Amino acid sequence: MSSHKENEAWKEASIMEDRTFRPTNSNSGRRKVPFYKVLQGMPIAVDAFKYGAIPGVTAYFLTHAHSDHYTNLSSSWTNGPIYCSEGTANLIMHMLKVPRNWVHALPMDKPTVIPNTGGVQVTLIEANHCPGSSLFFFEGSQTVNAGDSSFKSAFVGSPRVFRYLHCGDFRASPRHVLHPAVKGKRIDHVYLDTTYLDPKYTFPPQPLVISACAELAKRIAGGSVVGTKMNGWLSAVTREAKEKQKLDRTLMVVGTYSIGKERIVKAMAQALRTKVYCDARKTAILRCQCDPELHLLLTSNPLDALVHLVPLGVITSDRLKEYVERYKGYFSRAVGFRPTGWTYTPPAGMDLTPSVSTIITRSQKNTFAHTDMLPARSSTSTLQLYMVPYSEHSSFSELTCFAMSFQWTKMIATVNIGSENSRQKMTKWVQKWEAERKKKGKDYVVEYRQPDYW
Ligand SMILES: [Zn+2]
Repeated sequence: MSSHKENEAWKEASIMEDRTFRPTNSNSGRRKVPFYKVLQGMPIAVDAFKYGAIPGVTAYFLTHAHSDHYTNLSSSWTNGPIYCSEGTANLIMHMLKVPRNWVHALPMDKPTVIPNTGGVQVTLIEANHCPGSSLFFFEGSQTVNAGDSSFKSAFVGSPRVFRYLHCGDFRASPRHVLHPAVKGKRIDHVYLDTTYLDPKYTFPPQPLVISACAELAKRIAGGSVVGTKMNGWLSAVTREAKEKQKLDRTLMVVGTYSIGKERIVKAMAQALRTKVYCDARKTAILRCQCDPELHLLLTSNPLDALVHLVPLGVITSDRLKEYVERYKGYFSRAVGFRPTGWTYTPPAGMDLTPSVSTIITRSQKNTFAHTDMLPARSSTSTLQLYMVPYSEHSSFSELTCFAMSFQWTKMIATVNIGSENSRQKMTKWVQKWEAERKKKGKDYVVEYRQPDYW
């Protein structure tokens, strides 16, 4: 597609996504699907359940069980087979009561031919987002112009094989570009989770944040918080206080949305050698996930667990106080952890138009330890609150490292695409990556510190 045509296609997509849309007879009761929800030339839609039965589509894919991706999927779904990972399949059958006969769980990492798609093969790759989330790598020829877009592909019917990588929501890591499905291949279209495609989002690598939380929890529970940046609270621990603390129990309370952020909870519970408690509704959701390690940690007795999992909204000083009040006499102190990417503020004076090589260097130097976590101002001697710069979407530098580490022809943004201004800003970064990528050999991969982060 030429850049003019691409602009027109985005304009058409914006009209289709009009928020004031109401189903009527004149619009056939269904919202039209924008071009980026249907794979070019293939009868396949991804995360496109709110558009009803899409013309020409025979396979509906779901990247993960977050509500903005499964909008309108319900017990009354009859529009066609749904393909996803096993974890996501369990979740949508449990939470949304989607009838089992429509749900097809696919194996991870193994190319599988999808029926009635003209022989398209798909490989699921762990997305490093929430449990069950996956990237889809599609490979096949173009056989049909499905969907509602007025822009048709000229390759339909040609024998050429096309490759598309749909990232859903993901946190990019070297593992993605080293995956055998991706490595060494040129990918025609990459559907990119552009949530944080802006240089101000430079939060630290996720594995470092997880171990920092576990370490902090361990030190607080052991009464040995002496980090240089720690102030007040436990830094002046007397012998007497230490003795008393042996009898005391500190409750760690972690806030989460419906699914996601379980890794922090697991790491904390393992570091403290304790169990994890959450209410019955949340427990049932956690049981849907294919994570035997997590299942072993769960308990239905809140007093048995030093780690509690609660809705994110509970992690404010007032509500946390209320929560802990319930367990008065069993825990002497509580520490709330509020994990979210939005808590991160970039260092003052940071260059917000860096070169690609600066972005990469910044990424490789980005570290994080328990000493980087400070209790919120509202913290008291018995109630502490920590903001955790934890995100399950790629940081700006991770998106850059990812894009620089494999061969692709076109990136299609899937987040923050509502305004032309935002799309243009993102396009500039994609163009920068493209230009830099051309200077590198085709097998170039950005040097990484560990397989799970750059
Ligand atoms: Zn998500």
